Amino acid sequence: MTHLHIDHTSAISEFPNSTFVVSETEWQAATHGSSPMLEGYRRSHFDYAFDYRTVDFHRGDVDSYASFGRTFDLFGDGSLRLAYTPGHSAGHMSVICRLEKRDFVIGGDCFYVMGQLDGSEPAPPRPQDSHNLRRSLQELRLFRSQFPDAVITPSHDPDFYAAIAALRVATPQGPALGRSLGLAPLHAASVQLCECVLLAPRICRHISQQTGDLRRKGAFSSGFLDCLGTRGYS
Ligand SMILES: [Zn+2]
Repeated sequence: MTHLHIDHTSAISEFPNSTFVVSETEWQAATHGSSPMLEGYRRSHFDYAFDYRTVDFHRGDVDSYASFGRTFDLFGDGSLRLAYTPGHSAGHMSVICRLEKRDFVIGGDCFYVMGQLDGSEPAPPRPQDSHNLRRSLQELRLFRSQFPDAVITPSHDPDFYAAIAALRVATPQGPALGRSLGLAPLHAASVQLCECVLLAPRICRHISQQTGDLRRKGAFSSGFLDCLGTRGYS
């Protein structure tokens, strides 16, 4: 999980066999703050026994990668790196997926729309720490300047996701999605699905429109499909 804000955690229960990874700082902020709702957290989404791991970005095995000062190589093979990009929330992180031809960076809520990465629009409002958010955005911008072919995703940009959907990348086909993206590891597809497709509001609506088709294919549980139309961020 890039972070634990309400619009990103609402479907955790739909993945009972999954292991969730979140930064230690984010976990502490989400579970110990005095005003969770004011900080964007709904503890009922994760206040139960589900399988999760935390990553401490202040440990010695954290290393820099390209423009990112603190990253953690999740599987030890460079296929999936977690980059510490706090600011929007206390322990926000981005996810760098190594594809065959380019890196695919899930920027989470560091920026909502592409204009905020470009700097043509103001940064997302109400950051937990505006200084850290500026630093994190700068790391993402530097990464893009170093690797112009990399794809860096915003979390709430309907135009961006509409463009992806138009390319048929956003169809929820599991392994087929991974192949269409040219993903090296299948788990990268899982991350992309969870963070960018399943929980992104416009795509949720896009998927909801295909509910009957998905049920017929048995792609997801009916409970999950039902949640798409009601729990999405708006
Ligand atoms: Zn958020």
